[in-house]
Amino acid sequence: MSLKVIVVGAGLAGLNAAQILRSNGCEVTLLEEQSRIGGRVATEMIDGYRCDHGFQVINPAYPELRRTGLVEKLQIHSLSKGFEIFIDEKLVMVGDPRKGLGYLVGDLSSRTGTLSEKLNFLRYLASKAQDQSFGIAMSQSGDFYQKIIKRFLQGVLLINPDEVSSLMAHELLRWFIRGNPGVPHLGVQALPNLLGEGLDIRTESRVRKIKSGEVQTSEEKLSADVVLIATNEVSAASLLGQPAPSMNKSVTWYHSVPAGEIKSNHLRLDPTNTFVNSVAISNVAPSYAPAGRTLISTTALDVIHSTEVLARVGALWRVNPKSLEYVQHFEIAQSLPKHLPGKPLISPSRLSENVYIAGDHRATPSQQGALLSGRLAAEAIIADL
Ligand SMILES: Cc1cc2nc3c(=O)[nH]c(=O)nc-3n(C[C@H](O)[C@H](O)[C@H](O)COP(=O)(O)OP(=O)(O)OC[C@H]3O[C@@H](n4cnc5c(N)ncnc54)[C@H](O)[C@@H]3O)c2cc1C
Repeated sequence: MSLKVIVVGAGLAGLNAAQILRSNGCEVTLLEEQSRIGGRVATEMIDGYRCDHGFQVINPAYPELRRTGLVEKLQIHSLSKGFEIFIDEKLVMVGDPRKGLGYLVGDLSSRTGTLSEKLNFLRYLASKAQDQSFGIAMSQSGDFYQKIIKRFLQGVLLINPDEVSSLMAHELLRWFIRGNPGVPHLGVQALPNLLGEGLDIRTESRVRKIKSGEVQTSEEKLSADVVLIATNEVSAASLLGQPAPSMNKSVTWYHSVPAGEIKSNHLRLDPTNTFVNSVAISNVAPSYAPAGRTLISTTALDVIHSTEVLARVGALWRVNPKSLEYVQHFEIAQSLPKHLPGKPLISPSRLSENVYIAGDHRATPSQQGALLSGRLAAEAIIADL
């Protein structure tokens, strides 16, 4: 008789776990509270614009993504190498930190920090990271950290990078160097859509309670040999009767301008720190906007008044705010788990004899972390059979 597993949550962690369990002969049912799958990886079509829920890129170098065998099917449009930032009112193109040493030695501009600061950063990347705060790990990287790396990572981690675990930041930075992230032709939602193929998924099915061998949704009670909780950190804590942890928040605005007004296809960092980043996303993936328009995606760590948003987006892109057309905005209160010093890179999957846990909060706050945690939970369930 095959093992009956209920997976709670159809985000990347739950979907990956379910696929692995299914391919190992388990009978898997996924219960998902929303009307769609994918959790935090979502895309909506709004008036012909493809709007991801927050600026989110997919890195084909993530080992767990490669394991799924889906990279080619995603048709990823890669972001151009490097990013732009105004320093002293001058637009500086920061070569490509992902190219590592080659870029840093080639870039002799003192605007982005001294050569010794850049070499100290490279030493950090090349060595084994220690479990301390990233701010302390970067103390020798001066202006290069403060002006460039910190601003870039703030947009990735959605928190002041000084506070996070250096172990985790080290891991994420190394993937950035190895990979060429971008967005799928059909939006980031393409990833969970592909990952969910062939699975038994019940949407609009919110799990309220988990008991040993039993799951209670709003409508019914279901029994299983094993329950895998694959929700975000806040929902997992609630299901386990634990206090709610706080997660990093983000807000992304979408505006459009007539095509041709913005030529850049680079990520642009905001020197005023109002936003963590902005990008003319349809210059990267034309499938993100209807013909004749350019879609801009701009992210901040908190809500800003709409008139200020227009003024600041206009200033950042040097376009008249009157030419910016609002498309949509997404406020995501539970964007990312906080990964602070002291937290391991991987936390155990097994909670008790027949309850397991997965989600990005069990590994790194990323798609890679979510997929990895799902695989590890599935493998633990199979090993404990
Ligand atoms: C704005 C933003 C930008 C990001 N950018 C990047 C990026 O560029 N690169 C990167 O690698 N990562 C990025 N991430 C992180 C990445 O999206 C997440 O780490 C990953 O998607 C988490 O997947 P998950 O399966 O762990 O959790 P989730 O996606 O949160 O999935 C959990 C699922 O459980 C469901 N659920 C919750 N409670 C219940 C319940 N009681 N009953 C039933 N279902 C329930 C939820 O509806 C959800 O579908 C970003 C995240 C955000 C928000």
